[in-house]
Amino acid sequence: MNIAAPRGTKDILPEEMSRWHAVENLFASVCQRYGYGEIRVPTFEQTELFARGVGGSTDIVRKEMYTFEDKGGRSMTLRPEGTAGIARAYIENGMASLPSPVKLYYDMSFFRYEKMQKGRYREFWQLGCENFGSSSAYADAEVIALLDTFFTELRLDERQLELGSIGCPDCRPEFIKALRAHFEPNLAKMCADCEERFELNPLRILDCKEEGCQPFIESAPSQLDYLCPDCADHFDKLKTALDELGIAYNINRSMVRGLDYYTRTVFEYVSTHVGTQGSICGGGRYDGLVEMLGGKATPAVGFAMGIERLLLEVEAQGVDLPAAEAPDLYIVSFPDTAVSAMALTQRLIRSGLMVQTDVMERSFRAQMKQADRSGARYMLLLGAEELSKREFLLKRLADGSEESVSEGNLVSYLKQVGQD
Ligand SMILES: [Zn+2]
Ligand SMILES: [Zn+2]
Repeated sequence: MNIAAPRGTKDILPEEMSRWHAVENLFASVCQRYGYGEIRVPTFEQTELFARGVGGSTDIVRKEMYTFEDKGGRSMTLRPEGTAGIARAYIENGMASLPSPVKLYYDMSFFRYEKMQKGRYREFWQLGCENFGSSSAYADAEVIALLDTFFTELRLDERQLELGSIGCPDCRPEFIKALRAHFEPNLAKMCADCEERFELNPLRILDCKEEGCQPFIESAPSQLDYLCPDCADHFDKLKTALDELGIAYNINRSMVRGLDYYTRTVFEYVSTHVGTQGSICGGGRYDGLVEMLGGKATPAVGFAMGIERLLLEVEAQGVDLPAAEAPDLYIVSFPDTAVSAMALTQRLIRSGLMVQTDVMERSFRAQMKQADRSGARYMLLLGAEELSKREFLLKRLADGSEESVSEGNLVSYLKQVGQD
């Protein structure tokens, strides 16, 4: 029997995990400093949640979801993204009665049946935030400020913030009318998908990647020219706040979201590093989502970013992430002191040190080799004599220098040299 991991999934081994932890721990720390609390929602939900909360016309829902019938005959789907499930949890747990805004962050894996390409997985991880309850542009600014702090502390410097507005249900119809007028005379020269999008939702034409469609997309009108006074005011307030925060942005006239519950602010962080250009993080406002899922109307803003994509970017930009920590000490023993070595290891670990000893009943020589391989900073030889005198010889593996330390001083000695 030879079973491999499913296509599009991958194992993350301990060596790589230390890079993940560096990014995840930094993200959690930044979120907590901004007053966000972590949320985890179920890995699978009723299919209906995503059909409504992600949008029945999106590629995610139409082609990419892992949907199955459970033993009770209910249609379930592995979560393809975070926002719908978190909005469901917000409603179901009565979080609307908490002081606003309710600030939530997450670090979860998601599932999409995607085409295979570099950096894309069918189970992938995202970090994200959702901020419920504020319709103010200052909430948008704070969410972006949080991201700016995260990227700054990560030292991911080759990045650019793209900023746009997609209006609201009041001003979008005018824009869609303008889009139709623009595309209609050119439809014959555009791809078949775009002809279909023209009928269903002309906004989605702006997402088309077909080369032949690009000239018509580039010359299309921008929602920014069709904002109602409230949407224009919201966008201006956001820009003023970002200016005051010293966060640079580029006004992007062609950002779109194809679904009605996305409103006003849209933003994206893109890499400016040669060779890895592209989006690292996307976000925006979704004032219509909670109501559409059956809650009372609740403005909201948030973002998500893929961890795998982020780590590729971190590597491409030459950012050093801390490697896995090496043990403080390796204890080498003899057959008659092996159990005492385990007891000493246990005491030292409980005082906060990283300590290893042999549990393979290896020969003395093989244990020495193992001590070297472990990368430990110190080695301790535990013989019967050392044990009876309670006085140990510590060998520094980097240079072979030795020092005699009493059992009582062992912990403080190792902790102190650990800081050198
Ligand atoms: Zn508007
Ligand atoms: Zn097209």
